[in-house]
Amino acid sequence: MASYIEPHQYTLKRSVSCCGIGLHTGRTVNMTIKPASANSGISFYRSDLSGKGSIPAHMDKVVDTTLATTIGEGSAKISTTEHLLAALRGSGIDNVHIDIDSHEIPIMDGSAGPFIHLLKRGGRKKQHALRKVLRITSPVSVTDGKKNIRIEPYDVFKVTGRINFDDNLINEQEYSVEVTRDRFCREIARARTFGFVDQVEQLWKNGLALGGNLNNVIAIHWDGRSILNEEGLRFDDEFIRHKVLDLIGDMALLGGPVLGHVIADRSGHGLHLDLMQAIVDNPSCWEYVKFEKKGDAMLRRAIDRTRTAGKHLPPFFADRSDAAMAHQSICAA
Ligand SMILES: [Zn+2]
Repeated sequence: MASYIEPHQYTLKRSVSCCGIGLHTGRTVNMTIKPASANSGISFYRSDLSGKGSIPAHMDKVVDTTLATTIGEGSAKISTTEHLLAALRGSGIDNVHIDIDSHEIPIMDGSAGPFIHLLKRGGRKKQHALRKVLRITSPVSVTDGKKNIRIEPYDVFKVTGRINFDDNLINEQEYSVEVTRDRFCREIARARTFGFVDQVEQLWKNGLALGGNLNNVIAIHWDGRSILNEEGLRFDDEFIRHKVLDLIGDMALLGGPVLGHVIADRSGHGLHLDLMQAIVDNPSCWEYVKFEKKGDAMLRRAIDRTRTAGKHLPPFFADRSDAAMAHQSICAA
């Protein structure tokens, strides 16, 4: 199969704004997504905190993976990044600056669908700079008990997710997709987050999920056989599609596009981060490439073959240094 990726970076044509509530605080959140220059990546700015700098959407900035992915810099935090980042990655947008006046990305309807609409309103703008793509050349895997996630060489970005719940509704589900803009929008973006009612009640007791309601979460009945949402499911396998959405959003924290096949079995935010860390720690398992169009053909040009291990993840990367160097040799065969 020929590799295909849009070679150029993209940003928005114009700024777009939305307003929603935070899933955990239940508070109103205002967010504006603005165009940004090439090679600047995705970054957040807490407009309610005066004097704080921006927070890059990058795995180095992850401070918590409980319930959702939270990034932070000092006291400034942004949580539930995954659905918005999935929408940006799924829309093929590389560089934006996001102003937000709370520590939670608005939950909207619990999916990435509203963000896709928002980004479409902003329009995509092609930038002169070429994308720097992380291409997996040897498998990397992480296991935690029954949970496992791995990435293998593949010519496009592909995700296979599996979940296995001990109930009569979700049970075993598997979903596999080569992630293109079209397939992301049609098959993944609208899949909503879900929770078991008894777990949600427990969260409420602990002052969490205060903004959670049937408009933004699929609530699974106490009996584990049905859902409380009267409109039903958007897809028969909406649960695993949402897990795939979460994974795409978390993988965006690598800082740029990836060519590889991620296979995730009972995975979650913590394991997604572990996989990204394992990739960074095993620089002999990947390389950076850029793509150029020559007539109808797409040429792949390896760059940075002689890079210092893991120092430069696209389009920016904080110095990860010696730890990465030390683990160069443990890449899975
Ligand atoms: Zn989610």
